[in-house]
Amino acid sequence: ADEARIAFDNLADRTSDFFHPTVRLGVTGLSRAGKTVFISALVHNLLHGGRLPLFSVHAENRIGRAYLEEQPDDAVPRFQYEDHIRRLLDERDWPNSTRAISELRLTVEFQSASGWSRMFSSGKLSIDIVDYPGEWLLDLPLIDKSFADFSRESIARARLPGRRDIAGAFLEMIDAVDPKSPMDDPTAQRLSRAFSAYLTAARADNTALSTLPPGRFLMPGDLEGSPALTFAPLSAAKGEPFPKGSLGAILEKRYEAYKSIVVKPFFREHFARLDRQILLVDALQAINAGPEAVRDLEIALSDILRCFRPGRSSWLGSLLSRRIDRILVAATKADHLHRESHRRLEAIVRRLVEGAVKRADFSGADTQVIAMAAIRATREARIEDNGDDLPVIVGVPQAGETIGRETFDGKTETAVFPGDLPKDPTPLFMDADGHAKRADPIRFVRFRPPKLERTEEGLTLSLPHIRLDRALEFLLGDRLR
Ligand code: GDP
Repeated sequence: ADEARIAFDNLADRTSDFFHPTVRLGVTGLSRAGKTVFISALVHNLLHGGRLPLFSVHAENRIGRAYLEEQPDDAVPRFQYEDHIRRLLDERDWPNSTRAISELRLTVEFQSASGWSRMFSSGKLSIDIVDYPGEWLLDLPLIDKSFADFSRESIARARLPGRRDIAGAFLEMIDAVDPKSPMDDPTAQRLSRAFSAYLTAARADNTALSTLPPGRFLMPGDLEGSPALTFAPLSAAKGEPFPKGSLGAILEKRYEAYKSIVVKPFFREHFARLDRQILLVDALQAINAGPEAVRDLEIALSDILRCFRPGRSSWLGSLLSRRIDRILVAATKADHLHRESHRRLEAIVRRLVEGAVKRADFSGADTQVIAMAAIRATREARIEDNGDDLPVIVGVPQAGETIGRETFDGKTETAVFPGDLPKDPTPLFMDADGHAKRADPIRFVRFRPPKLERTEEGLTLSLPHIRLDRALEFLLGDRLR
């Protein structure tokens, strides 16, 4: 049934693609990586003619018109572009982050670069932007995992030495229930809440920042409270099935339901139809939290990247008839650093994903890494400090942000010396034995979004950014020739 459904979707996509060229662009990343901000900035810059010298179709003045259109999928929530932009521009505050999947169609009418293809090409491309939480991709390994395996692994992870503080309550509760006792919904709910609280704490924990499946326990979407999202791992005797009607039997059934009605449909109906993908990474947050967090981020990114190139014989691999052919890994929020550190940020993220790219079969997929700020909230300057010439960034820190003893009011422009990323990134990572030195943290202040800027030609007002145009050129440039 999976294959038939996907074949049908693909045929439908291809048929409409023939008459109406379309590219489906996936935008993902872990929570707060910057997906909402990236999509808002991309659309605003295309609709209003931003400053995009490295985006060839724009630089060559070949865009005729860009506009939003009705999205193709009626069952997917629309990306709330207008609300997000209103919040960014009128309130100069950041928009609400991604909680579930959403979609937006942006259509660009353009002239072809060469006269020959201008005769044949329709000169119109629809970009279907699909925004979804990276946490959801971490569920892929569950497809091949039984409830017993899932339970054993989850409980073993919760028992890791560093986890005692955050997992204690959950483990006690699991130890106190008998999986063979009759099913009782309040107990299932209590277990599920404790499990989800532990996963959330593991995520929020500044030293570990682990991101563990099930992904919907971190980002529930619209199924919160349903039986398929109300389960927890249980310890059980190996190989022994749970008696009929027992807590264990019902939670096992719910775990299977989670896979079949939550995980599989997402991969089949949305993920399998993507052509291009951007993966946003907030490396600065992990660097500041220390080497354990960097290692956790590395593991999560490698699990995410594996979804983009699954083995042909795997469940997902056998579904994909089209394959994502360009993947951009973008380190976001580069405006928190002076330009001198951007290359270093890129090198760190390249190193974070290097292992994953080498392991999976990325042949046929072009993968690039860049440091970017979809919205640049700061500008650069240099100040003299005791005879030193320091590279600083200048912006308006959000109300309540602090540096040392100073607390900001959200109105005052301030120069911040963010610190440098090290030239050699090795100390940021753990060595093979799990040892790590701590590097100096980056001075990380959250700034308010900027005002619109006049483009060089002075014609339009646009949102400032760092290398958003390079990202667009890589993701879409070839489809707009
Ligand atoms: P999502 O969860 O991936 O949708 O994350 P958001 O797009 O909502 O971003 C989370 C937060 O990160 C925002 O509220 C901003 O504070 C910050 N942020 C994201 N992108 C940028 C950027 O390009 N520049 C700056 N300065 N901050 C950003």
